[in-house]
Amino acid sequence: MPRLLDDGACGKVPRMTTTFDDFKLAPGIRRAITDLGFEKPTPVQMRVIPFLMQDTRDLVALAQTGTGKTAAYGLPVLHRTVPSNRLTQTLILCPTRELCVQIARDLNAFAAHTKGLSIQAVYGGAPIDAQMRALEKGAHIIVATPGRMLDMIRRKRADLSHVSHVVLDEADEMLNMGFQEELEAILKTGPKGMLTLLFSATMPRQVAVIAGRYMNAPEEITVGERNSGSDTVSHEYYVVHARDRYAALKRIIDVYPAIYGIVFCRTRLETQDVASRLLGDGYNADALHGDLTQAQRDRVLGSFRTRHLQLLVATDVAARGLDVTDLTHAINFSLPAEAAQYTHRSGRTGRAGKSGISVVIIHTREEHKISMLEQVIKKKFTRKQVPSGREVCGAQLHGLLERVKQVEVDEAEIAPYLEQIEGILSERLATDVLKRFVALEFNRFLAYYKDAPDLNVTRTAESERRQGGPVRDRDSRHMTGFIVNLGDRNGLQPGELISLINRAARGPVFNIGRIQIDQDRSYFEASGGDPRILTECPSLPSYKGRLMAIRTFEPERANRPPPSRRGPRRDRPHAP
Ligand code: AMP
Repeated sequence: MPRLLDDGACGKVPRMTTTFDDFKLAPGIRRAITDLGFEKPTPVQMRVIPFLMQDTRDLVALAQTGTGKTAAYGLPVLHRTVPSNRLTQTLILCPTRELCVQIARDLNAFAAHTKGLSIQAVYGGAPIDAQMRALEKGAHIIVATPGRMLDMIRRKRADLSHVSHVVLDEADEMLNMGFQEELEAILKTGPKGMLTLLFSATMPRQVAVIAGRYMNAPEEITVGERNSGSDTVSHEYYVVHARDRYAALKRIIDVYPAIYGIVFCRTRLETQDVASRLLGDGYNADALHGDLTQAQRDRVLGSFRTRHLQLLVATDVAARGLDVTDLTHAINFSLPAEAAQYTHRSGRTGRAGKSGISVVIIHTREEHKISMLEQVIKKKFTRKQVPSGREVCGAQLHGLLERVKQVEVDEAEIAPYLEQIEGILSERLATDVLKRFVALEFNRFLAYYKDAPDLNVTRTAESERRQGGPVRDRDSRHMTGFIVNLGDRNGLQPGELISLINRAARGPVFNIGRIQIDQDRSYFEASGGDPRILTECPSLPSYKGRLMAIRTFEPERANRPPPSRRGPRRDRPHAP
């Protein structure tokens, strides 16, 4: 079993006075750290750097993303690299192309004053020839994604026989992405005595298996609590009806005029749908998902990084390895399939010591998932009210006035126009002029939010609904029953049925009630949308090669699915 080193959370606290000088790093590396403006080591660096400078043992380090992990292993690895030895000495494996490029860039910055060091990045989704030529010239350190690295080994373009350290960065993400086989194959290639340094934000079973199989009595360093959320992130949730999810998203975005964040969706289709709706509604947003070509992906990421894009709507996989440190918000438009994934999503904000907000929008039947998430991240969520139209307008006005206060006036440039401006506006009072300028920017919001409904689900209305009490909201309207031609025999699960329905309806239009999956067909109840969206849908999706067909029940049976005759009844999955 790995032993806990002096832990910031549950053991000796590292001296607060630790400085980069205490690590006795080579002078060139020390200079580079100063150039980068790193004043003092981060907690993970305080723990990992001294260990790697002295120890010759394997390491498992559990730390959140954005905590300075790259320097924590990168600085000691660079310190130990011998430039005169042309062989590959360190291999760093990470889950995505973006992370690969970012790590190589960071290492090059740390090695800015170290002569003769070669750091090469090799990753999939880019031509292999140039990368092969780069490796042929020799690389002291290779930073790679597992698939491309294995390819290089098999093509005999990389020689790991003299590698002294292999780093698995974001090991949980690599395993999540299905790289287990590649990782194992690569680890088997390394020479005897090679040290393995595993970094992970979470410690799922798969990671523990890799540690157990390929590591030798590793030291374990935990910074903060296992699987816990970052301290700089506050977690908030909003409860709305399923059909109001998008409207709530817009209000949350509108109430933060300076928002710069990621909107996480569960599927590519949902990502595309939310991004198109945001774009159509005039937001500065774009989608990032697996269907994009590498060039499209680079373009979207480039404009997001440079802040030309304010909102990135992304799937979990697509957002991996994104190296943007100052996001204000991570918004969970829909919750991830696994609770551990929430740690990664929320860890995209509150990085490098900055504070951030992780927002979850849930519908009424998902409230229990919040307490599950609280247990996973060991942090409390705050329930927030979806802002009213008036609150949004107030926040927008505040944002606009802040911009007015902060704008730099180029006196010389504006001087020639002053006479013209005064000529047109001199008749009016200063307050009138101000109102008109504000109205110019602001009328759009006033008009949009005039008479905006309250999107919050009040607890009383919800509990009355559950008890069959008075009809207070649109959601408790008549449920329609539907029959689908797919069932247990097709391997259909309730979660998949929901995503098929959302795909057919091109978004989470329906509030889905009870689901029953029989052997050859399924039944479900839904409200909140016109049933013809489904029954007259021109392009229903296929499931495992079978085209979906759907029709409604007879009206008198519409409120309740028929009792199961052939197969077991399955309730909807409860795991977030
Ligand atoms: P990482 O977790 O390695 O992705 O690092 C997150 C961010 O923190 C990067 O932008 C680093 O440049 C920055 N960083 C790393 N170490 C320090 C430090 N000691 N002081 C200030 N910033 C740092």
